[in-house]
Amino acid sequence: MVAVRLLDELGRLTADRSTRLLDVTVIGEEPHRPYNRLLLSEVIADRADLGRLTLPTATDSSGMTVRVLRGVTATDVDRDRCVVRCDDGSEHPYDTVVLATGAAARRPLTDSDERAGQVRVLRTIDDCRELLAACSYPRRVTVVGGGLLGLEIACGLASRGADVHVLHRGGHVLDRQLPASAADIARAALAAAGVQVVTDAELHRLQHDGDRITAVRLRDGREIPTDVVVASVGVAPRTELARAAGLPVRAGVVVTDELRSPGDPQVAAIGDCAEPQSGCSGLLAPGWAQADLLARQLAGCAVSDVPASSAGTGQVVKLKAVGVDVVAIGDGPEPPAEARTVTLSDPAHRRHVQVSVLGDRVVAACCVGAKRVAADLTAAYERRTPLPDDPAVLLLDGLPNSVVPLTGDPTTMPAATTVCRCNGVTKKDIVDAHVAGARDLVAVSARTRATTGCGGCREVVCGLLEWMDDVNPTKDVPQPKHSRNDPGNIHSVASSLIDKEISR
Ligand SMILES: Cc1cc2nc3c(=O)[nH]c(=O)nc-3n(C[C@H](O)[C@H](O)[C@H](O)COP(=O)(O)OP(=O)(O)OC[C@H]3O[C@@H](n4cnc5c(N)ncnc54)[C@H](O)[C@@H]3O)c2cc1C
Repeated sequence: MVAVRLLDELGRLTADRSTRLLDVTVIGEEPHRPYNRLLLSEVIADRADLGRLTLPTATDSSGMTVRVLRGVTATDVDRDRCVVRCDDGSEHPYDTVVLATGAAARRPLTDSDERAGQVRVLRTIDDCRELLAACSYPRRVTVVGGGLLGLEIACGLASRGADVHVLHRGGHVLDRQLPASAADIARAALAAAGVQVVTDAELHRLQHDGDRITAVRLRDGREIPTDVVVASVGVAPRTELARAAGLPVRAGVVVTDELRSPGDPQVAAIGDCAEPQSGCSGLLAPGWAQADLLARQLAGCAVSDVPASSAGTGQVVKLKAVGVDVVAIGDGPEPPAEARTVTLSDPAHRRHVQVSVLGDRVVAACCVGAKRVAADLTAAYERRTPLPDDPAVLLLDGLPNSVVPLTGDPTTMPAATTVCRCNGVTKKDIVDAHVAGARDLVAVSARTRATTGCGGCREVVCGLLEWMDDVNPTKDVPQPKHSRNDPGNIHSVASSLIDKEISR
């Protein structure tokens, strides 16, 4: 996903041909067209189609030539000859080689159990297909790992009728994001969504009958009957090329603030595989910031002073899970000691809101079962909006000038409303794109980048396009029908914003 962003940004920067002409070769081991990996958990939840994940490609590549090799693995970076070698025997000379090799899902039990290979993961389209096939009729599923992705998988499979347990090593789920009090309420919401959580659970081994998994056994002796085991226990940056090339590697490929290897400035690394000074994030926003910075360097443009490694470290995280609304803002689960923290805990309604303020600014928050308040607090945090004198009023109603429109009419939606938070795209940007001739979702996405992150704004963008088709019709061309996953109309715009303006 980060390589796609790099290409897109290069396309934009080189379009006027005043920059360097670039000759780019993209080597990708997956056979598929570039796709939005974030939406795989939405596919599991049956809220997105596998066929709709393809990312728009660069709008303009007139300033560069691009050759894309799919289904080809780079096996070796020969730094003496400045050549990348691939498993199909091809060799590709370079001035700069960009490692954007991402990360691989970690697997538990790799050495201790011969059936460890039967444990499924979710990282690629192929993993997603296999997982859905394995759970194709209601089954008992055990998800190992109660972090964000583990819970998304668990809720998605439960919504498809599976009987799901989540095993979590820590004392409560989402322990990197939520304090225990909020996690208890999230746990109740998970149970209502059909997901049972088992905490302090260390996976020991799989029980089986022939080739069939029958249960998981925990280190403390507990046993949970199951047919399918899915692991979501983190990712490992794919560093094999850099390591083999003798470049510095810690958890990820070590890079400077300029995203170059300290061992060789002709090698850059971005995205999940890279380890800048701030560490590996495993999130998309920092990878995109790195891609943008590297694109400027490669195109020979002036580069801002802000190191990409410190940009967009993603301090707002949202659980994209069916039936369980969780948003966490700030650094870690505990509120900052120096802040004033107010809390609303309402277990009967599976609702918990905690806001920490310093002066009149939000510095941390967590919201369970409170979408509207979460959307407002996210906006207040990101835009550094001044808060009312008494922060307690935020707990129930959010901001006095809520970012969430009260009516579903796009006419009254302020032009500055953020429609796609991942890319900072506003209603005005969508309207301008439509006026400039982008009449369908693909064209608008390619132009504005809306929908290319968490994809949660798709519904809103389609609603705005339908509205614009009415107010700004094209005379001769029949109006396109804007495809979305769920049918709907412009009146679903507001409720979609409540749901989806925020994302991790
Ligand atoms: C289900 C799911 C949901 C997620 N949700 C979120 C979310 O809500 N928010 C968020 O911020 N992040 C999320 N993430 C993480 C996000 O997807 C990653 O941060 C992002 O994909 C990183 O992009 P990347 O380009 O660095 O790596 P990738 O997208 O993994 O791309 C790397 C590509 O390089 C290929 N490759 C590796 N080695 C080689 C080689 N030697 N030769 C050729 N090709 C190679 C890989 O096959 C892969 O196609 C999610 C991830 C998953 C799996």
